[in-house]
Amino acid sequence: MTVTRRDADVSDLVERARAADARAVARLISLVENDSPHLREIAAALVPFVGNGQVVGLTGSPGVGKSTSTAVMVSALRKDGKRVGVLAVDPSSPFSGGALLGDRVRMQDHATDDRVFIRSMASRGHLGGLSAAVPQALRVLDAAGCDVILVETVGVGQAEVEIASLADTTVVLLAPGMGDGIQAAKAGILEIADIFVVNKADRDGADQVTRDLRYMQSLGGRHSAAGAWRAPIVKTVASTGDGVPDVLAALDKHRDWLHRSGEFTRRRQARAAAEIEAIALGEVRARFSDVHGSAALGASAARVVAGELDPYTAADELVASL
Ligand code: GDP
Repeated sequence: MTVTRRDADVSDLVERARAADARAVARLISLVENDSPHLREIAAALVPFVGNGQVVGLTGSPGVGKSTSTAVMVSALRKDGKRVGVLAVDPSSPFSGGALLGDRVRMQDHATDDRVFIRSMASRGHLGGLSAAVPQALRVLDAAGCDVILVETVGVGQAEVEIASLADTTVVLLAPGMGDGIQAAKAGILEIADIFVVNKADRDGADQVTRDLRYMQSLGGRHSAAGAWRAPIVKTVASTGDGVPDVLAALDKHRDWLHRSGEFTRRRQARAAAEIEAIALGEVRARFSDVHGSAALGASAARVVAGELDPYTAADELVASL
């Protein structure tokens, strides 16, 4: 722990982040993702400023066009005068931090734009895993005034579904020639998608992917209730930007629906509940590891071995003492 880190002036950092100072935003994210001693102070300081940004999850298999789409969506949102945050989350990568990952190079078009904040996050060094660190980073970006925060994740199964549960709106990208139809069904991705984007619409097979998706949607009964959201299917060519305005229009539409239906509050409360639970369990685990190997635990183990106490009663006593 360095002196500067310990001396971080949280209220000054928050003030600068509110004024779109990219370095302050980056610093705050580093502090929250590294579980610093300032974590609680920062979380408390952000409270008055969070809740406005739309969190948009963007997921799909490698090569489907996520980073290309993210870059063109950022450009389009910027043209609309929106402030944008991007979190590129890679659950499988050991690398994390402010540096752009190799395949994010095209995002450097935006690197000097003070209304766009870009951040890569990976699993290394996150005590509670990415699912603990990402919500904190989202809160920093939200407090920094981002209208839209794009969370880009590689489609690798469970971790991606967890990250998607952090979003208000989840966009699932598919592309022809990737066997995505089957993958989608397997990964339960149909369940998490609010919007489907069939990218690489310039290639043969895009219409087939769209038809397959429509067919799969027609099999699931979940969207049949009146007023329910039915995930639209939007075709794009991310490399030229074709169709991207339709994606943004679908995002707006979904946002309106979230508010109208009450789903916005329901999703956010479910998210907050999961987050509180995870933090509380982490706290219990930390306290338990203090107990592990302690004299009290040793004594209670000795009583169980001696036949004086059953392990359930011993465990109840331990939990009560935490
Ligand atoms: P990611 O791994 O999902 O982030 O995918 P990338 O954005 O890196 O794209 C993978 C490759 O597909 C790159 O070579 C892109 O240039 C290319 N690509 C992206 N979108 C399109 C598209 O709409 N049409 C075509 N033909 N190629 C695309």
